[in-house]
Amino acid sequence: MSETETKRSLHFLEQIIEEDLAKNGYTHIHTRFPPEPNGYLHIGHAKSICLNFGLAKKYGGKCNLRFDDTNPLTEETEYVQSIEDDIKWLGFDWEDREYFTSDYFDRLFDWAVILIEKGLAYVCDMSAEEVGATRGTPTVPGQESPGRKRTKEENLDLFMRMKNGEFPDGAKTLRARIDMASPNMHLRDPALYRIRKVPHHRTGDKWCIYPMYDWAHGQSDAIEQITHSICTLEFEVHRPLYDWFVTHLELNPRPKQIEFARLNLNYTVMSKRKLLRLVKEKYVEGWDDPRMPTIRGLRRRGYTPESIREFCDRVGVARREHVIDVALLEFSIREHLNKIAPRVMAVLNPLKVVITNYPEDQVEEVDAVNNPEDPGMGSRKLPFTKELYIERDDFMEDPPKKYFRLSPGTEVRLRYAYFITCQEAIKNDKGEIIELRCTYDPASKGGNSPDGRKVKGTIHWVSAKDHAKCEVRLYDRLFKDENPNVQEDFIQCLNPESVQVLKDAVLERSLADAQPGARFQFERLGYFCVDTKHSQPGRPVFNRTVTLKDTWGKMAGKE
Ligand code: ATP
Ligand code: MG
Repeated sequence: MSETETKRSLHFLEQIIEEDLAKNGYTHIHTRFPPEPNGYLHIGHAKSICLNFGLAKKYGGKCNLRFDDTNPLTEETEYVQSIEDDIKWLGFDWEDREYFTSDYFDRLFDWAVILIEKGLAYVCDMSAEEVGATRGTPTVPGQESPGRKRTKEENLDLFMRMKNGEFPDGAKTLRARIDMASPNMHLRDPALYRIRKVPHHRTGDKWCIYPMYDWAHGQSDAIEQITHSICTLEFEVHRPLYDWFVTHLELNPRPKQIEFARLNLNYTVMSKRKLLRLVKEKYVEGWDDPRMPTIRGLRRRGYTPESIREFCDRVGVARREHVIDVALLEFSIREHLNKIAPRVMAVLNPLKVVITNYPEDQVEEVDAVNNPEDPGMGSRKLPFTKELYIERDDFMEDPPKKYFRLSPGTEVRLRYAYFITCQEAIKNDKGEIIELRCTYDPASKGGNSPDGRKVKGTIHWVSAKDHAKCEVRLYDRLFKDENPNVQEDFIQCLNPESVQVLKDAVLERSLADAQPGARFQFERLGYFCVDTKHSQPGRPVFNRTVTLKDTWGKMAGKE
């Protein structure tokens, strides 16, 4: 159980389930996560995964993984594997209950025959356009298809011939015979089957008619004896249709469908169609680009499964659409990494410092704490030398008031080491500062004041003689608009500065051996992880996961 969960009250789905178990005759609960394998999972899916697997776990029930693979045109095995992998990474397990809607194609076909025999389904010859044009509007009834008048025998014969491939794509559909005047448009004789002469990723060439999602979904839940079928709000209006199918097919027990609001994040697009466009048109490196809201992207960015689960729990479960601030996601990873990430020093934009009164070849080892949040993580030795690097923006020639870092004549503390005072800034012939000449106070060893004199700024550093040089990538939001979804073309809202590649960063030498996926806090800068795609042995590339909650940046007057 997550930290938040122990503190919060029950959300409405938990209340429904507890009531069902206590009073409504349910002996157990059984949920499912039903992705369509037509893209990679995103943070919205993570919400649904945490909910479905989480509820099953909490109430001692089971959760199935079911691939809703009714559309052979967009579905691929690559997506099936990535979805399995992402769910496992998030920390959930479907055990031996991995199902595919395509496993139920035979049964769905038989059920369609039953509806035809009951006079509740018919073969329609209208094209998709004609169906659209005759559907009516919520206040104007639709027109009945001529197919509605066909006899059972005729319908059975035509449906078999559809199945046997006698008609071209789009020539006919099988439709439910419900009510062309229903105020619920989903009940106006919806299509159950369409002809698609394309192979399916699992059934190959066996079928050339494929069930519509609406025809497959509720029955798949019934086949798997799902007790609580948790869906996002847009399916609320489909519920009467699902009930109609289950009633006329006399399926028992009936899954109880409950809808909740999908997760929306500001500065983010989440629809798979939009994410696919970002990938296809190469606005990002791929589905796993660290700026993508996919599980893959978040993983590469350095997010932990714990932080995502905690985020989903914090977001809660609502019945109404709303938008969550992406800062909450960032908060969750920051909070987790604060506990587990070792601290290291890294200088992203180096400026050389020469300590003029420090012996030429001397190397002193200073002690550095690995994680102040966890004394068990111990400490390490860092080499202190006459020449060092500091962050370029930790020096200002002409500082404003309250700038407590380095400037001509001022003194700062070098983290874990000594107080230094800047004596001179050396410039090249273009007038750019290329080096600082400083003096140190040998009595301030360990960064302690020798005589009670106050030094406000503390800055980080790396030895110029002994370090690793690495590429570091700083990420910012992919979109500059708070809601890219409402703009005419969401591509127009892309943030042109969503990634910044720094080639000259210097880091503690041990980081040259950091393994892909390893996570660190670069002191004063943020949390970083070793990229799993571009790193090479001995040459890691670091991704910034998230900036720091800047406490000791503030201490150094960095605000
Ligand atoms: P998208 O609109 O992003 O393409 P989808 O709903 O078509 O997503 P599916 O693969 O059909 O994607 O979704 C699998 C499950 O995940 C469904 O139960 C769906 O309701 C749920 N889901 C998808 N997006 C979200 C979201 N943003 N928040 C919560 N649940 C979601
Ligand atoms: Mg869908």
